[in-house]
Amino acid sequence: MKTLALPGGATMPAFGLGTWRYGEQAGRRSAELTALRDALALGYRLFDTAEMYGEGGAETLLGQAIADALRAGEVRRDELFIVSKVYPHNASRRGVPAACERSLKRLQLERIDLYLLHWRGEHPLAETAAALQDLVAAGHIAHWGVSNLDVDDLEELAKATDPSGAPCAANQVYYSLGERGPEAALLPWQRARGLPLMAYSPIDQGALAAADMLGALAQPLGLSAAQLALAWVLAQPGVVAIPKTAQRPHLRDNLAAAAVELPADVLAALDRHFPPPKRKRPLAMI
Ligand code: NDP
Repeated sequence: MKTLALPGGATMPAFGLGTWRYGEQAGRRSAELTALRDALALGYRLFDTAEMYGEGGAETLLGQAIADALRAGEVRRDELFIVSKVYPHNASRRGVPAACERSLKRLQLERIDLYLLHWRGEHPLAETAAALQDLVAAGHIAHWGVSNLDVDDLEELAKATDPSGAPCAANQVYYSLGERGPEAALLPWQRARGLPLMAYSPIDQGALAAADMLGALAQPLGLSAAQLALAWVLAQPGVVAIPKTAQRPHLRDNLAAAAVELPADVLAALDRHFPPPKRKRPLAMI
């Protein structure tokens, strides 16, 4: 599995599983737990979750799957990279540690590897950053970062962050073949600072899997449209992809896409069909 360097020198897997929509319905619980166990068995090591997903339900399912895999000796804790997120309304000096403690309990973990502000809300960035730095210093999280922040927010965050504490380690935003907006300014800004961009909704919430034109380009390569969409995201330097699926065949296909090197003519054809942005536009958000 390809890895990316984080500011500070540690690494994170470049590919993982998103868990939005997990833990929302009791009737799907058993199938979702099976999917998480399958993901671990197939070799997924990065998992992206949030206190928002199923209002804690996704973290609880993930925690159970991880605990089972650790107990069975199928995976070591230090091989895993668990990402979770704090709601903006909890992102105060006191709210952050309390939310983190609840997430740790649901995840059955002593430490979250990367803990993100889910999006910018009413609490000042300086306050949230200080609270997140405190969590790193206390060992409750290994790294902290943000999500849905554009360049101006990141510049403000940099000024508001105590340079003697842990630095912001990642920014998670909407980035896919269908949403290439970050390439105009945000992605170059992050690359220049060695700040990984975690691409959420890399299959456009499933829409790219059904795009005929993508299917036609993918077929001669022996790939599905979804695999081509993922391989393209992963071909972008400094980018991590976290597609969501709850189906074993898709888990396998998506993981296989992480190993695909796309030929230059295919990358050029994708640029023609999904042109990069000509100028900066507001950051898209799902
Ligand atoms: P994705 O682009 O990952 O698409 C998920 C959809 O694609 C699901 O309907 C899934 O269905 C389908 N799918 C997945 N793999 C395949 C495949 N190989 N072939 C066909 N269909 C496929 O969208 P998400 O919005 O879920 O984004 C991914 C993750 O990013 C989220 O789960 C979450 O962790 C994170 N995220 C973060 C946000 C933020 O604000 N920070 C916002 C949005 C997402 P099925 O399950 O049936 O396979």
